[in-house]
Amino acid sequence: MGNIIDGKGMSEDLQERIKEEASMFTREHGRPPGLAVIVVGDDPASKVYVRNKEKACERAGIISFNYRLSSDKTHDEVVRLIKELNLRNDVDGILVQLPLPSHLDADQVLMTIDPSKDVDGFHPYNLGRLLMGLPTVIPCTPQGIMYMLRASGIDPDGKDAVVIGRSNIVGKPVATLLTLSHATVTICHSHTKDLDDKVKAADILISAVGKPRMVKGEWIKQGAVVIDVGITRDKDGKLTGDVDFDVARKRASLITPVPGGVGPMTIAMLLMNTITLAKGHVS
Ligand code: NDP
Repeated sequence: MGNIIDGKGMSEDLQERIKEEASMFTREHGRPPGLAVIVVGDDPASKVYVRNKEKACERAGIISFNYRLSSDKTHDEVVRLIKELNLRNDVDGILVQLPLPSHLDADQVLMTIDPSKDVDGFHPYNLGRLLMGLPTVIPCTPQGIMYMLRASGIDPDGKDAVVIGRSNIVGKPVATLLTLSHATVTICHSHTKDLDDKVKAADILISAVGKPRMVKGEWIKQGAVVIDVGITRDKDGKLTGDVDFDVARKRASLITPVPGGVGPMTIAMLLMNTITLAKGHVS
């Protein structure tokens, strides 16, 4: 694979280990770890993501409880379901697939998840603990990125890291994790001036925007590590990252492909978080 970080292969190896852990949990506690997956509406991308997550649960021996709600469900109806799941002993993690239909306030919905079942780590309690560097549920994509860096022998300590994107689910938590690992972090977003100059200074670049090939290959510093989180379809319908991969890979020391990079690692971390939460519920 040369300088390509094989997220797919890493994820498959991890999922084998997770499967063993799930089976040990099931033997010891007489039930499998359980993940409730809630989708509201019929966003086509969400359907694909959720199907992949459910299939991965099945392969790993984690039971998934699937809730497909119509787009006209009210805030109270969604919250009622989450409160029921909060009380169930066979549910260790609750995942609400984003985006939610526009009449629902995602922050309010996520806040009703019991923090001990917050498998995505999006609850303010868990995000606050993350900011403080305390043990917590780490959001799956940022956790997968840190895993890939570690597994590739990259220590962020003292490195200049640039994160493009400041969402609560990717940009901010990954910037926090890099800071906790002693990188010097610059967070860029749609108001950032001279983005190319920021990127050119990055030893580690994480791009989480969702605009196909907006990061030009020539911006990549020679020898930089490039993690491309973005997933979009280009005009020909091909899945594409934020980074102009073909040019960037000639300059990067390591780079993730799209697809086959960050995406599969996100799923592995979801399974890992489910097992961690399950162990917490029986200890
Ligand atoms: P959001 O839309 O929430 O955030 C995008 C960020 O990009 C915002 O902070 C925005 O800035 C910034 N941005 C937009 N345009 C520019 C620009 N021209 N220059 C610099 N920054 C810009 O997206 P998410 O964080 O949820 O996801 C980002 C991408 O990652 C998407 O493609 C998504 O599909 C993908 N993704 C992939 C996952 C995986 O498992 N592989 C998991 C999660 C997401 P501002 O804040 O100013 O608006």
